[in-house]
Formats: sequence, structure tokens, C-alpha cells
Amino acid sequence: STLNFAVAPDCLKGKTILVTGAGAGIGKAAALAYAKHGAEVILLGRTTAKLEKVYDEIMALSDTYPIAEPAIVPLDLKGASKQNYIDMATTIEQTFGKLDGVLNNAGALGSIMPFEQFPQEMLEEVMQVNVNAQFIMMQALIPVLKKADSASIIFTSSSVGRKGRAFWGPYAISKFATEGMMQVLAEEYDNTKMRFNCINPGATATKMRQTAYPAEDQKKLKQPDEIMPVYLYLMSDESQKVNGQSLDAQPK
Ligand code: NDP
Repeated sequence: STLNFAVAPDCLKGKTILVTGAGAGIGKAAALAYAKHGAEVILLGRTTAKLEKVYDEIMALSDTYPIAEPAIVPLDLKGASKQNYIDMATTIEQTFGKLDGVLNNAGALGSIMPFEQFPQEMLEEVMQVNVNAQFIMMQALIPVLKKADSASIIFTSSSVGRKGRAFWGPYAISKFATEGMMQVLAEEYDNTKMRFNCINPGATATKMRQTAYPAEDQKKLKQPDEIMPVYLYLMSDESQKVNGQSLDAQPK
């Protein structure tokens, strides 16, 4: 990759950024990184206690960094309705006047198993969390994102969202759909103040990775905070001209 992911320490000052799945793993690391760089972060997730812990960790940085107080949105993408997202968008608009960024990070893995064995419910849950919920959420949020001077929307892909892999069933299919949604939005809103891109995190030490590869030594993997340069770059104004791309957080 020829992109330079370096950003200024205050590159997200004045920006309001929504992070889904902010309670653990990569989403938690991104919420902390965005807050350290000056953003007001909105922490969305399904487990309130985890979001509160991230809130506390962010506030504890305020001696060292110019921290803005985060907001918490407890929401399960599996069961959330269009009205939940509209209500969230209304609250964001009333509180902040605009939304500068969304990191669509929350994701469901399902199981790794032969195609013929996947229960229909697992297919439906993975597609609901990884694709449908993000579609409906983006419909609700785009009017608020349009109010920002420059808005960045990031989707989370995977290597199996670019090339299919045996036994990865619904998850791989959902990540292809994620890449597709990003491309549709990027072309539809090209030359507007909004841009849409994907990040493929690459192998990263999280609970999801451990579930997919139970025998692996997680210490040998990149930790979530080590893959943050591309997450910061795509959210900052450094990437204003980048639209419709699928970037690797761990370029080879
Ligand atoms: P984790 O399982 O560690 O974290 C996922 C987060 O999303 C958790 O905070 C989880 O909440 C939240 N979440 C899951 N389902 C829902 C839901 N229905 N509603 C709201 N929040 C939900 O995973 P990672 O950090 O590893 O994954 C983050 C993203 O990166 C995912 O999209 C994943 O597919 C992708 N990815 C990860 C890779 C890796 O190696 N780790 C590689 C390639 C892609 P809770 O903690 O409450 O369960």
C-alpha cells in the first residue's frame, strides 16, 4: 500500500463518531483511539456493562488527552428496529447537530461448519447483524451525516469477504455483502461530503478470532490497538479523497 496512514494527534477534534460493537475487541480499541485523537465517541453495543467500562477507560485518559465525554447507546443489532435507529439519529442530531463518522464494526461470526449443516437461524442472524442492521442503520443516519462538513463511513470486511472460503458459510457471504453495500454507497454518494470505505482488520487477537481459531496462540497475533493507524486515517480528514476503497489494516 502506498497510503501514508500518519495522522495528527488532534485530527478528530470536534468530530462526533459512532462506533458499533464498541464494548470489546477492535471496536473498543477504535473507540479509545478516536477519543484520544479528540473525537466525541458514541459507543454502541449490546452489553451495557462493557460500554460503561469503555466509557470509564476513556474518561480516565483525560489527564493526558483532550478527552470529550463519550455517549452510550445500548442496542442489540439482532433485534433493533428501524425506529430504534431513527430515534438514535434524532438524539444525535439534537445533541451534536451532525455526525462526522460511523465505524460499522459489530459483527457476528456464526459457526465454522459444512455448508449443508448451517441452521437457517444462524444464516438469518449473521445476515441480520452483519448486513441488514447496517443497511437500515445507514438509512437512518445518512441525513445526520449529510450535516457534517466531511463524513467518513467505514464498514468492516474480512479476507473471506473478498475470496470465499470453505466452511465459512454465512459469515463469508455477509462480508461479501458488506463490500457490496460499501461500493453501492460510495458510487451513489460520490462527489458528496460523505465517503464510504471498508477495512479488513486481518488476523487480530479478539474473542471472535479465538472462537474461529481456538487452537491458535493469540499472543502471536496483532493486538487491536496495533491495527489502529488505518482506522484513524480513514476517519480523519487526511482521507477526504478516499472513497469506495477496501483497505487492509495489516498490509502485507
Ligand atoms: P469481538 O467479538 O471481539 O467484538 C465484537 C463486538 O461487537 C463486541 O463488542 C460485541 O458485543 C459486538 N456485537 C456483536 N454482536 C452484536 C449485536 N448483535 N449487537 C450489538 N453489538 C454486537 O470481534 P472483533 O473485534 O474481532 O470483530 C470486530 C469486527 O472485525 C467484526 O466485524 C469482525 O467480523 C471483523 N473482523 C475481525 C477479525 C479478527 O481477526 N478479529 C478479522 C476480520 C474481520 P459483546 O461484547 O457484547 O458481545
